[in-house]
Amino acid sequence: MDLIPDDYEGGVAIWGASHPAASKRRSDPAPIVQIRSNCGLHVHARRAGEERKSIDKSFDSLDVVRADERRTLTYEQVWSYRAAHDAGIPQETKRCRECGDSTAFDDLLSQRVRRKCRKCSGMLDGDPIAFANPVVSLQAEFALGTTRSCVLAPGRIEIAPDTFPGGFDIWGTSPAVLWTASRPEESGAHVHGYDSDGRSRLVDQTFGVLVVNGQTISNEALRLWQDQTGFNGVLRPFLRTVRCPRCHRALLDKGWKAFIPHREFQCRCGFLFFESHATISNPICDWACSL
Ligand SMILES: [Zn+2]
Ligand SMILES: [Zn+2]
Ligand SMILES: [Zn+2]
Ligand SMILES: [Zn+2]
Repeated sequence: MDLIPDDYEGGVAIWGASHPAASKRRSDPAPIVQIRSNCGLHVHARRAGEERKSIDKSFDSLDVVRADERRTLTYEQVWSYRAAHDAGIPQETKRCRECGDSTAFDDLLSQRVRRKCRKCSGMLDGDPIAFANPVVSLQAEFALGTTRSCVLAPGRIEIAPDTFPGGFDIWGTSPAVLWTASRPEESGAHVHGYDSDGRSRLVDQTFGVLVVNGQTISNEALRLWQDQTGFNGVLRPFLRTVRCPRCHRALLDKGWKAFIPHREFQCRCGFLFFESHATISNPICDWACSL
C-alpha cells in the first residue's frame, strides 16, 4: 500500500499494530498466552476538515511516499523503534558514507550495532553506539512543519470485574512513528470495553490513569509490557514478575534489561540477587497473565 501523507491534511499516524497487552474476553480465551504473529502496521488518516478517518486499517507493509521519495516500512523496524524509544535506547537513521543508502537497520533484539553498509560495505555515519533504524528520520522527512507533542490523556478509568459484561482489551500506547496532525498525540492506556454481546464497544478511548480491581497500573510498565509481548512473541517465555526477596517489591526492568533476559537483579532497596533462569521482570505479568 502506498501512503501519501500530503493527501491527508487532517493528519496521518502510523503505529506498529499489535494484540492487546492485556485482555479479558468472554469469547476469546486469554490471547496473551498465545504466541503472537506479525500484526502489521496500523494507519489512521484524515482528509482536510474531516472528523471521520479515511483510513483506519492495518497493513503488512507500507510505502510512505512524498514527491520522489519513497520509504518502505516493515513491522520489524516499527516495533524495534517503539521498543528502543520506550526503553530509552539510542537509535538513529544512518547513512552510508560511500553509497548514501539510508536503509541500515539493527534489530533491537540482535543487540548488535552494525558499522558497515549492507549494500556496499562502506562505513555508516552516526553514533557508533546508536542502533540504526530508517524509521527514526521519518517524522523529520514526512511531517515537515508539524511540531509534535505528546500529552497524557486526561481521563481516568476504573475497571472492576463487573464493569464490562463482555470483557475488555487494553493496549499500552507509544508515540507513532509518523504523526502529521497539528493536535498533540495522547499517551496512556487505550481501552476497549465490550457489551454483553462481546463485540459492541461501551468504551473505546485512551486514559491517562488506569485502575484495575483497585490497583493502579503504571503507564511505563504497561508500555514496556506492550513492547515485550510484541516481536512476534519471542520474549514471552522469559517474562515474569520478579519480586525482591527482601522488600517484596515487584521489579520493572528498564533500558536494555527490558529486552535482554538476565539473571542478576537489583532492587531499589539496594538488595542484589540472582534468579535461577534468565528472566525479564515486569509487574504487569502477575496481573495480565492471570486475567
Ligand atoms: Zn485504528
Ligand atoms: Zn553503502
Ligand atoms: Zn480503540
Ligand atoms: Zn527490595
